[in-house]
Amino acid sequence: MAEEPEVFDMDKSAEWKALALSLDEDDVLRHFRDQFKIPEKDGRQRLYFLGNSLGLQPKSTGTYINNILDQWSEEGVESFFVGENPWSGLHDSLLASLAKITGALPHEISIMNQLTVNIHLMLVSFYRPEGRRRKILMETKAFPSDQYAVRSYLEHLGLDPDEIILEIHSGSPLNAIETSDIVDAIQLHTDELALVFLGGINYYTGQALDMKMIASAAQKAGCLIGLDLAHAAGNIALQLHDWQVDFACWCSYKYLNGGPGTIGGVFVHEKHHNSGQKRLAGWWGNHAETRFMMNKIFDPSPDASAWQLSTPPMLLLAALKASLDIFDEAGWERILNKQEMMKQCMKEWIESLSGQYFSCITPEARGCQLSLLFPEKGREVYDRLFAEGFMIDWREPNVIRLAPVPLYNTFTEIWRFHDTLKKILADVFHNQS
Ligand SMILES: *Cc1c(COP(=O)(O)O)cnc(C)c1O
Repeated sequence: MAEEPEVFDMDKSAEWKALALSLDEDDVLRHFRDQFKIPEKDGRQRLYFLGNSLGLQPKSTGTYINNILDQWSEEGVESFFVGENPWSGLHDSLLASLAKITGALPHEISIMNQLTVNIHLMLVSFYRPEGRRRKILMETKAFPSDQYAVRSYLEHLGLDPDEIILEIHSGSPLNAIETSDIVDAIQLHTDELALVFLGGINYYTGQALDMKMIASAAQKAGCLIGLDLAHAAGNIALQLHDWQVDFACWCSYKYLNGGPGTIGGVFVHEKHHNSGQKRLAGWWGNHAETRFMMNKIFDPSPDASAWQLSTPPMLLLAALKASLDIFDEAGWERILNKQEMMKQCMKEWIESLSGQYFSCITPEARGCQLSLLFPEKGREVYDRLFAEGFMIDWREPNVIRLAPVPLYNTFTEIWRFHDTLKKILADVFHNQS
């Protein structure tokens, strides 16, 4: 690079540092950080900005899991029915918390399986090709597992995925898709669409789609809409019920801190309950009142739990409950408020460094995540940040993703990212040794 090093405004930086300190001081959620296990290196806490990948472990998770183990050892299978917290009620005890986070009615949620499995189950119920109406609208840069699920399911039906799937391409070089492009595509293919299936937040760019507007366009077109909320659940405000989304699925190990590979969730709008829905069935989706009569014919639960297949895994539900109890205690509104403030700080402190060496590919509409694209030397910048204690994520070929979250990150950590990145940029791009 021929340019001179940028002159960084030291006053501004000092001012931002003071601001970060005072925001932390006034942060009503600051004590919640103590409820999480923060990874350390050489006795120092690392700066964990990977809430979008694997949320940190609540200190209470071990206790919640041990309680299940104790029940198991003390009462065996009786634990389903006896004691203060019988296992039979554990699944339902999580619904209110998730309903708040997703903007659903509690009976529209079912906690089950993992995300990709749930996508398959939802496709069975909600991909209903009929006549000319057989296409599925997806984004080009959908998460690979979503693409594999849809393509393999179509092949299973004997259909050609390349014929059925309509991919929305981004018009922008930075990968963001305009809501209007999606709405236009829905209108353009009105008579052919059976299903719109999109990620509410794109895992790569961090862009949050205007799900309300897209859902409304899908309804006007007379097709169904499903959302993958892996990067949205526990991150941004959702109103799945009011938006009339038909179904949604998510995993609980990213922003929801439920633990690696933990149990996922689905939303099925109540308009689809009890409607003679096609589905793959299992005994745990059978009406609770008749489940143990062991009848031959499936009698579906009158709500989203009709999609359950198997006995709920109590250890995983307990791990998820440990985290959701923290969300409840902190308050979803307060979490969203802090997230909004963190977003402003990231914009001012981190995005202000963009331009010459990297660009921020995450549009304004987003949650916690920021994705920085480095045309050159991104890996080197990433390695240096990592060496400085930042746990962030590198996506080939040239993107650094970071996602500080309200429950356990601080404003000072965000400022430190700004400060460290600034120094690393100067070093990497000007002091090549
Ligand atoms: C994380 C993620 C997945 C992963 O699915 P699992 O089945 O839980 O491994 C799938 N889709 C999206 C969009 C994701 O972000």
